[in-house]
Amino acid sequence: MAAPCAASCRRLRAQRKLRGAGLAPCWQSAVKPGRWNLHAVRCHHSYQARNMKPQTMVRMRASSFALLVEQAQRAYPYECCGFIIGAGASESVRPVRNIQNERHRENPQAFPRDARTAYLMDPAEYRAVLEDAQRQGLPLSVIYHSHPEHDAYFSATDRAAACLFDPAEPDYPDVAQLVLSVKNGRFADVAAFVWDAERKDFVRTELILS
Ligand SMILES: [Zn+2]
Repeated sequence: MAAPCAASCRRLRAQRKLRGAGLAPCWQSAVKPGRWNLHAVRCHHSYQARNMKPQTMVRMRASSFALLVEQAQRAYPYECCGFIIGAGASESVRPVRNIQNERHRENPQAFPRDARTAYLMDPAEYRAVLEDAQRQGLPLSVIYHSHPEHDAYFSATDRAAACLFDPAEPDYPDVAQLVLSVKNGRFADVAAFVWDAERKDFVRTELILS
């Protein structure tokens, strides 16, 4: 297990606090930056964005992407969410239940949005996936969610959720974010985003399916 770097101490402390409350596990050591780029893969499909940063392109197996599309369409009109862990031959899609509707019903003041425009990962499933990745020594590659009836953009809410512990830096800066747009129940578009440390923001990048 890798020792946490000094820069992430504050985040880890916050995570430990949440973990104590049963809300968020620490899996920082499971993150291995740059693992996507170690695999030479043949490109069949490519979603390219303007101003993309080639060194940060996101690679994923077409079979994994097909599972995301299926999940996003099945969840419609609600958002779906989950992770991709591993890369190449070890890559696997790990869907996580979206409990936003339950929280909205229980406490609409604290959770004004329902799952049509928001997602909240089930804490137990979230924890299980991250612990599993850590146990197997697999990197967390992607965090994904869908936008029913909306385009595939990274919203201010998405950014806030990704930077829960520090507004200036994502909780997991080396993990790509994927947003799938679903319209009329059918997959419409996808966009990949990575953290740009210079801009201090997420930027759209290229998604390559192999
Ligand atoms: Zn979103």
